[in-house]
Amino acid sequence: MAKTPKYVYFFGGGKADGNESMKDLLGGKGANLAEMAGHPDLRLPVPPGFTITTEVCTYFYKNGRKYPPELKSQVDAAMAKVEKLLGRKFGDPENPLLVSVRSGARRSMPGMMETVLNVGLTSKTINGLIKQSGGNERFAYDAYRRLIMMYSDVVMEKAEGIEPKDGKGIRKILDERLEEVKHQKGYKSDTDLTVDDLKALVEEFKAKVQEVLGKPFPDDPQEQLWGAIGAVFLSWNGKRAVEYRRIEKIPDEWGTAVNVQSMVFGNMGDDSATGVAFTRNPATGEPIFYGEYLINAQGEDVVAGIRTPAPINEESANDQSRHLPTLKQLMPKIYKELDDIRKRLEKHYKDMLDIEFTIEKGKLYMLQCRVGKRNGTAAVRIAVDMYKEKLIDADTAVLRVAPNQLVELLLPMLDPKAELATHPIAKGLPAGPGGAVGRVVFTSKDAVEWASRGEKVVLVREETSPEDVDGMHKAQAILTSKGGMTSHAALVARGWGKCCIVGCGDIEIADDNKSFRTKKGDVVVKEGDWISLNGTKGLVYVGQLPLIDVDIEHNKYLAEFMKLVDKARVLKVRTNADTPKDAAQAVKFGAEGIGLFRTEHMFYGEGSDKPLFLLRKMIVSKTTEERRKALDELFPYVKNDVKATLEVMEGRPVTIRLLDPPLHEFVPHDEEKLAILANELGVDIAELKKRAESLRENNPMLGHRGVRLGITYPEITEMQVRAILEAAAELIKDGKKAIPEIMIPVTCTPAELVHQKAIVDKVASEVKAKFNLNKLPFMYGTMIEIPRAALVANKMAEIAEFFSFGTNDLTQMGFGFSRDDIGSFLPDYLNNKILKDDPFQTIDQEGIGELIKIGIERGRSTRADLKVGICGEHGGDPESVKFCHRVGMNYVSCSPFRVPIARLAAAHAAIEEKKAMAAKGAKASKKKCAKK
Ligand code: ADP
Ligand code: MG
Ligand code: MG
Repeated sequence: MAKTPKYVYFFGGGKADGNESMKDLLGGKGANLAEMAGHPDLRLPVPPGFTITTEVCTYFYKNGRKYPPELKSQVDAAMAKVEKLLGRKFGDPENPLLVSVRSGARRSMPGMMETVLNVGLTSKTINGLIKQSGGNERFAYDAYRRLIMMYSDVVMEKAEGIEPKDGKGIRKILDERLEEVKHQKGYKSDTDLTVDDLKALVEEFKAKVQEVLGKPFPDDPQEQLWGAIGAVFLSWNGKRAVEYRRIEKIPDEWGTAVNVQSMVFGNMGDDSATGVAFTRNPATGEPIFYGEYLINAQGEDVVAGIRTPAPINEESANDQSRHLPTLKQLMPKIYKELDDIRKRLEKHYKDMLDIEFTIEKGKLYMLQCRVGKRNGTAAVRIAVDMYKEKLIDADTAVLRVAPNQLVELLLPMLDPKAELATHPIAKGLPAGPGGAVGRVVFTSKDAVEWASRGEKVVLVREETSPEDVDGMHKAQAILTSKGGMTSHAALVARGWGKCCIVGCGDIEIADDNKSFRTKKGDVVVKEGDWISLNGTKGLVYVGQLPLIDVDIEHNKYLAEFMKLVDKARVLKVRTNADTPKDAAQAVKFGAEGIGLFRTEHMFYGEGSDKPLFLLRKMIVSKTTEERRKALDELFPYVKNDVKATLEVMEGRPVTIRLLDPPLHEFVPHDEEKLAILANELGVDIAELKKRAESLRENNPMLGHRGVRLGITYPEITEMQVRAILEAAAELIKDGKKAIPEIMIPVTCTPAELVHQKAIVDKVASEVKAKFNLNKLPFMYGTMIEIPRAALVANKMAEIAEFFSFGTNDLTQMGFGFSRDDIGSFLPDYLNNKILKDDPFQTIDQEGIGELIKIGIERGRSTRADLKVGICGEHGGDPESVKFCHRVGMNYVSCSPFRVPIARLAAAHAAIEEKKAMAAKGAKASKKKCAKK
């Protein structure tokens, strides 16, 4: 007979059934509660309780929302253990045990799911609770009204899917009533409510629940318990949770665990408190204990930003909280105990943690710990510091920062000069660094709508809630008037590395949600107005301040971190750059060469008038004679363009692609330009139009472009190659270094390469003679971007010395998806899960990746030292970079600003490979696996 599965894991009294490694089964919260409670190195004061596994959640959804039959008895047994430890009984009127029912998925989803506190409190058990608290009636009724508020909302309304009347849920109705009573009595804070007020409120609330929801508030502890457990499971499929999972790419199948834990009370009076903290500063990474707490409050109060939380120590104080007493001052012994726990936890977990604690009548309890979310700046500093503290090794330090987390260290900030020239209208807390500029919107819905029209927006709110996630995601930045560094807005923005200012008490949002006003300066900012935020300092400006690039060379921690990164990686990282300026920027970011220099760039944008005119002249030429003349005139422009970039790269390899786009892209359409051109060529407009017309193609992307131009008009190739090689020769003559790599685009057969090679060889010997050089180093290679080229790569490599996979076109031609028209159907493909990702953003490893693998294998079968790289958007995508490492490319190439990201991704790939090999080796030699 099969063994009964274990669905319930107990923790408490220095022991635990589970541990930290069981996150999949127990969820993050449950696994860490078990670790804190039961690990011999820790055995922290955790209120006893038990975890119902994620398997039960899966079972629940597979079996028509029913529990496995064994669950009830396992829960009863675990509850009995808790009761025994505490000497209280769940539901006992004399000496009742109360519990919290808490959700906890594998990966934390802050505030996304529901938690109910004080479960087990009824009209019968309340007297027992009063007795336990030493006669504190006020506390007991405060706990009771909280239970009714949470339970009626989370369990009776949301979980049961009852649609709120007039769009106003029971929570809001009860909240408003509470505010009304406070107002009538002239109270400032919840803590002013008297016993009688609370008693009356409890009765009123119960009646309201019956009236609004049509059923009584349950007075039976077991009914409350199972109702709350069910609500947690149901909340896994709630709208907010589903939305968050979609953004964070968390699989729907994971499910959540449920933690049932004995209550401790931070609201038993002034010797009680509750708080949240980070073992290091999560915004800067500074190794300083950082947190907030509230006296006489229950957990939710701190995170919800109802009262301004006080700092646990001076270092955690901000402008809003500086006047409040710190925990260190108020309860020095407890602070010390907490600080010790902080040190033990960091030593044990070897990471920065985020903790929740509660103090009940002068005794400290730990309610949660998990690896803390941090922004990129903090991630880098913490990794470097912990490496130096010898808590972690170099590889671990490198793995601690996700490649995309570097984005925010490389992203623009407000120009400090512009900031100096104006005055901020308001100051808040710097929750997410960097600069952002956008137009003000006041609702998440507007943020989504405006952003979908291509508007840059800043979402301004009093505070955010999980319902706002979508809009927060779409906004350039978030600004809230309330809430602290641990508020919802701060946590979520920090996770995304988004510019964010919270707790900006200087601004007041109008009731109609159409404007905000500064309290002092009386500036009014309306919906749609531009504002600029300095998220590093928490400053708000009116108008559009210029954004500038950050100075990564002077970021000490980043520099140290990138040293570790470069030691770990094998794959080289180049950049795609077409101008000396971009090239120089990329070198600063660590680029080791240029993987794609597009010659056609000189015909676009600033300073392109003259070369473009000459190009056009060449294009509409009718005879070789005419064309040669135009090419001769164009030659010096191309040569100088190439030379400037080669010079900046100081001998690093530069891959120069010959003209790629279809010619008709350059044909002028406006009359005036046509007239000038006609005049220059000595033909009339009608004739010119005819020539232009003849260039039109039905499908230009598959038309006369790339190498095909060079086959039809060898003189075009000849001119370009001469320009490139003379540029190099001139630099060499000047005693400088230059290594151009000539790259032929859009090839599909080796014969094309042979044809073009003859021109290259001829020009090379001419240039050598002209400059009197016996050596002129350069390479000759090709893009691999047509599937056929990948398949015949062994033959291509007979001529080509290097391959560069042009994955944009390879994806386009491999899928048969037009890059330019994909917008009309890609969303449907993603929504229907026909494709997992946009293949133009991250390499489709299954199909296009296979073409790449084949190309490399076959290419190297002919030429063992074939140099292989990738250019195109994928070169900066971390997942694609890792793929490139695995298939043995020599380098990736990406836009300048993504170079550090690609370097880090390449290091991750190398370390992951090393680890996988070590694990394999360990297995093979049957030695015991290195323990995690
Ligand atoms: P979240 O996952 O949203 O952080 P939690 O399960 O941590 O939700 O619960 C929310 C709050 O309730 C926490 O801040 C915690 O302090 C408080 N809380 C949870 N369980 C207990 C308990 N057993 N005793 C006292 N407070 C609790
Ligand atoms: Mg929590
Ligand atoms: Mg291409």
